Amino acid sequence: MRCRVCNAENITEVVDLGKQPLANKYPKNKLQILKEKKFNLKIMFCKKCKAGQIKKIINRNVLFEDYYYLSSVNLKLKQHFEKLAKKIKKYNFVVDIGSNDGILLDPLKKLKVKCIGVDPSKNVGKIANDRGLETFIGFFDKKITKSILKKYDKPDLVVASSVITHLENPKEFAKNIKNFLEKDGTLIIEIEYLQNFLKNLEYERFYFDRPYYYSANSIKTLFKKVGMQLYDIEKINIHGGSLRCYIKNSLNHKETIRCKKILSDEKEKLNLKAFSNFNRDIFKNSKMLREKLINLKNEGYNVIGYGCPARVSTITNVSKINSSLIKYIIDDSPLKQNRFTPGTHIKILPRKGNLNKKIDIVIVFAYEYFQDIKKFFKDKKVNFFKPIPFGKL
Ligand SMILES: [Zn+2]
Repeated sequence: MRCRVCNAENITEVVDLGKQPLANKYPKNKLQILKEKKFNLKIMFCKKCKAGQIKKIINRNVLFEDYYYLSSVNLKLKQHFEKLAKKIKKYNFVVDIGSNDGILLDPLKKLKVKCIGVDPSKNVGKIANDRGLETFIGFFDKKITKSILKKYDKPDLVVASSVITHLENPKEFAKNIKNFLEKDGTLIIEIEYLQNFLKNLEYERFYFDRPYYYSANSIKTLFKKVGMQLYDIEKINIHGGSLRCYIKNSLNHKETIRCKKILSDEKEKLNLKAFSNFNRDIFKNSKMLREKLINLKNEGYNVIGYGCPARVSTITNVSKINSSLIKYIIDDSPLKQNRFTPGTHIKILPRKGNLNKKIDIVIVFAYEYFQDIKKFFKDKKVNFFKPIPFGKL
């Protein structure tokens, strides 16, 4: 198989997570459970540009037509975008790609920055438009850039946070950005960082919604091919450690020192050997999680989960955990409540009315938000655990 980022031949299979369902499709009843499909989830790695990618890409229309992820429900993410808005307020016209429910548009608008969003999800895009945050609904393709440029001038800044991981064809995306941006315009891309997946054993960040897992080198390669230059990188702490990449719409911009350092660090550490260790640890730790939950059950403890992001699907399907081991999972997003986890069919319930029962152990799937989650249980004697690697919080 060829690398879909740099075209190198014979990229290597590095992780095989077996049959997996679509991680953001939460079935709501028996019929939907029966209709659920599973596909082989295999991760490939390109030694040349250092991009990770899924072997089989699922049609994007199937994935994003109705979507259950509302950014603004997530307080930490909201703060992240408020800070970013302040940082970019000097720009004249900002286009946010993958704008979701307007999580960046809202603070930008409050700072009086002209901005619009683009989002493929009809139900989520409508929420933004209803809030008065103009959102073009559709994938970021040639067609949508034409309809935007009919109404507006070219933007001097495009933001795409957690977007390019989801694309089917990143090369096409890069080309469209190149033509859409003003001549000296800037692109800010935020990516979950492949190197941190390995460092923190976060294999749960692999799922079909996201066929690409980027490194700084792969971003550099992708945009260089269309005449754009990665020149600066900031390490940011969302999504388990991400990179914020600054890319100019022309070549020959000097790379900053921190940018150079990240690029060369990857050349040394992000390789097949690292993936081989990663693969070994994934299966060791998935097995351990399952065994721990069986032990807790045998000892008579009541175990529930907290937070049902997409990773729950990958973790529970790899570890083969169903409602016999985790009774239910609490999630604060109304779009997920009273549905089931993909593939393993653990019931997802709202917080209200479901904290009063006898709970001994909480597996915190949304572990980034543990400090907030802990507060909901403050009067109760509960022990908290992180699922992978399994450990007390
Ligand atoms: Zn490549």
